[in-house]
Amino acid sequence: MTSSDDSSKMKTSSEKSNNLLAKRYIGLEKSIWTELNALPIVHKAIDLGQGFIDYAPPHYFIDLYKETLDDPNIFLHQYTREMGHRRLVEAISNVYSPYFNRKIDPLTEILVTDGATQSLFNCIHSFINPDDEVILIEPFFSCYEPMVHSACGIPRYIALKPKPESIKADISSSSDWILHKNELESMFNSRTRLIIINTPNNPVGKVFTRNELEHIANLCQKHDVICISDEVYEWIVYDENKKHIRIATLPNMWERTLTIGSAGKTFSSTGLKLGWTIGPQHLMRSCRVVHQNCVISCPTISQEVVARCFEYELKRINSSKCYFNSISNEFLEKRDKFVQALKECGIKPVVPDGGYFILADYSQFAGDKFQSDTDDVKDIKFVRYLTKEKQLATIPATIFYTDDHHHLAENYIRFCFVKKDETLDKAIEILRKLKTN
Ligand code: PMP
Ligand code: GLN
Repeated sequence: MTSSDDSSKMKTSSEKSNNLLAKRYIGLEKSIWTELNALPIVHKAIDLGQGFIDYAPPHYFIDLYKETLDDPNIFLHQYTREMGHRRLVEAISNVYSPYFNRKIDPLTEILVTDGATQSLFNCIHSFINPDDEVILIEPFFSCYEPMVHSACGIPRYIALKPKPESIKADISSSSDWILHKNELESMFNSRTRLIIINTPNNPVGKVFTRNELEHIANLCQKHDVICISDEVYEWIVYDENKKHIRIATLPNMWERTLTIGSAGKTFSSTGLKLGWTIGPQHLMRSCRVVHQNCVISCPTISQEVVARCFEYELKRINSSKCYFNSISNEFLEKRDKFVQALKECGIKPVVPDGGYFILADYSQFAGDKFQSDTDDVKDIKFVRYLTKEKQLATIPATIFYTDDHHHLAENYIRFCFVKKDETLDKAIEILRKLKTN
């Protein structure tokens, strides 16, 4: 066979494999996260990119993990209850019932999943029929949009708008990023099926106010829309006056809200990949159908460990020692240290009220060197440069926006600041050198 025969054969098989992808996934082939998460390893960069801590999780988490592995109950190594390991759903119910002002039924109102990501997948795929609309608030955690597409739904976007004066300021707050009420109202129509909210928000750190949540709640009720509330950073809030509010606790919202949590975020152990959805039985019934036809059940050992961790915390839930109460103090020091450094370097921080990311405006400091073009957006180019040339990994803000709204975000990059002091110091040193270069 000649070499030209070889190449035509290869082309045919690669064309064939492209055609194999189900139509609803076409357009979703590339994930920028896959590239960005690998870059710091390849370039030995200080990693303030993907969201995770770089020090040990709470000591009791490790102890309970070991204790579970030593447990003589051999069934902890076998399949467990499909909708959630019994001990875990009971622990979740015991911890969360007071926060939802109701007794949450562990067997019908909780579904344990392979991380908040799978909860999102279940919720989105459970309720969307072709051409149903889903309202997404930008910036949003990047998996929402592809999941809506793969469910054959139509995403409708509304962006939080920074107050004009905050854009110019050397330092601003995530609470300056406003959800415009009339604009939101104009997004709802008879085809709207879902709205997805995320408070505290990734990446900007906004904690939605009661007033904003009430407005969303009223619109959901008026238009008979289900609200998916992604609350994975629920315990991480920095301002006493801007507490985390669960939209499911607002009047008449329990019936139409699915609240999503993550053990990875709750116990600072993202490798767990375990999450849950909490909601009323009539909505959970649909989520269960997607779950049982997808993963069937989640890993037993991890569920047992998380159950024991919740039980441990429940005993001291009202004490300042409880991890849910102390985690924000631990992260607050890191936030303030990093905010100060960014400010000194001329990278204008948007100080987050919650979560563990800081968005910052790098534009005045990158100058005209990085411009958006048909290949890439400016912030992605800058992030690649920073990681490859300066060994500091961050995340571009535009990946939390739809293509049409990149102009709103291209001057920002995201830093994950929940890192040990040594890591933060090294990152700050790089930023300081950049300024003097
Ligand atoms: N929602 C948000 C807002 C997130 O930032 C993340 C990633 N940490 C997830 C969901 C996914 O969480 P998990 O790792 O539990 O799947
Ligand atoms: N939620 C994490 C973050 O925002 C991880 C996202 C990812 O790797 N896709 O950093």
